[in-house]
Amino acid sequence: MIRFDRVTKKYEDGTVALKNFSLEISRGELLVLIGPSGCGKTTALRMINRLIEPTEGSITIDGRDISGIDPVELRRNIGYVIQQIGLFPHMTVAENISLVPQLKKWDREACRKRVDELLDMVGLEPDTFRDRYPSELSGGQQQRIGVARALAGEPDIVLMDEPFSALDPISREQLQDDLIRLQSEMRKTIVFVTHDMDEALKVADRIVVMNEKRLVQTGTPDQLLEHP
Ligand code: ADP
Ligand code: ADP
Repeated sequence: MIRFDRVTKKYEDGTVALKNFSLEISRGELLVLIGPSGCGKTTALRMINRLIEPTEGSITIDGRDISGIDPVELRRNIGYVIQQIGLFPHMTVAENISLVPQLKKWDREACRKRVDELLDMVGLEPDTFRDRYPSELSGGQQQRIGVARALAGEPDIVLMDEPFSALDPISREQLQDDLIRLQSEMRKTIVFVTHDMDEALKVADRIVVMNEKRLVQTGTPDQLLEHP
């Protein structure tokens, strides 16, 4: 579904962040990109929604080169969750979650229903949380809202960049468990970046190990545990 074909990224200052990187990601798989800090994970991820453009090579989604797709249009169909949450502080939970549905011109009632459905999905009681502001939530709760917001427009693809890394260990385990449960129901194509192997082994359908701007190994968690 998502295909990197010999992608190289050289930043303006000359830093090469990815070199001849090729990868195919299947529909409905939760693929984890893992590797040490600076190996190019975030660069690869942010190319999928065109926050970063390749210097060489191409990226296609369902066979279509994304360099020909309007970035705003593209991002409406790709959920994005980052470590630093990024909820709008002056908006309520419901307003934060319904940003994309509103952009997609869903009617008010459809937006409301979707907000409650998403709060349920991420384990937060709608009546309790819909009208709260981000500052009134714990870190774990805010990150759940971040996940809900990323899913709100019913995207096919969800990009997650160290989504749980800033959380305490217990919240982190809960969110990992919830992601596994959600994914078993939704079957989105998820690309998940982490530097934590335990997290990768726990959530991944398939793991791609990167080092020094390249893909060094790929396999299911079981395969990687057998042949580390
Ligand atoms: P990771 O996500 O694996 O930590 P990144 O993709 O963030 O790695 O970074 C890969 C390399 O590219 C690193 O050496 C990083 O310092 C460099 N880099 C990232 N963004 C920029 C930028 N905007 N300009 C220059 N170099 C960058
Ligand atoms: P999660 O498990 O989703 O991270 P919790 O509800 O367990 O969230 O909260 C984590 C910590 O944050 C708890 O000690 C909780 O009391 C505190 N907390 C939650 N909401 C608030 C709030 N609105 N203001 C201050 N502290 C809060």
